[in-house]
Amino acid sequence: MTTIAANLQTVQERIAHACTAAGRDVTEVTLLAVSKTFGPDAVREAHAAGARAFGENYIQEAVEKQALLADLDLEWHCIGPIQSNKTRLVATHFAWAQTVDRLKIAQRLAEQRPPELPPLDVCIQVNLDGGANKSGVAPGEALPLGRAILELPRLRLRGLMSIPEPVEGFAAQVAVHARARGLFEELRAAGLPLDTLSMGMTDDLEAAIHAGSTMVRVGTAIFGRRDYGRN
Ligand SMILES: *Cc1c(COP(=O)(O)O)cnc(C)c1O
Repeated sequence: MTTIAANLQTVQERIAHACTAAGRDVTEVTLLAVSKTFGPDAVREAHAAGARAFGENYIQEAVEKQALLADLDLEWHCIGPIQSNKTRLVATHFAWAQTVDRLKIAQRLAEQRPPELPPLDVCIQVNLDGGANKSGVAPGEALPLGRAILELPRLRLRGLMSIPEPVEGFAAQVAVHARARGLFEELRAAGLPLDTLSMGMTDDLEAAIHAGSTMVRVGTAIFGRRDYGRN
């Protein structure tokens, strides 16, 4: 077994264990393999070991990688910041855009999503703990933005995505993720048809699952430590 295959199995066991501990069914949680900074061979290995959904932060890097992996049936998620000048690439090359935090970006994605592709699945990125400069909408802005996205063609509003500041300890991690879960439930009660709560990474996936995550985004525990110096 390759290292990536063994790591993937370990992560799947962590997810299964966390689901059991939280009294949840393991089918409620999707694993997104975050392959940023890793080359196409690493993605191939993860795919061979069973991974299907991959997350990328840097759009140009992702598009180049995707071209080398076109023979595989992969589901690509954009999980990095989306600038206006990158919306066409996201609309054309991804199945999901998880980091929508402005109506203007959603409108451009809707206009640029090619009609021959299925609707683009969209999450609103929320900022529940950071300063004003952090990506993501403030909690109070999520409902109006969600309602506006529902009116746009070619997009399918799926849920919320959050990247909390790292905190130490299970209880503190759960507390942070519980705020996202609370907002998620509020928005559903207000009528937004959300089914995805994307939160939890290598260091806090157990806490995120405990708090109700339906999609964990895991890089390091699958692919190893990232070497940003390579890029
Ligand atoms: C890099 C990244 C991840 C994966 O983080 P790990 O700690 O390596 O698991 C998840 N989500 C986002 C948005 C990221 O940028």
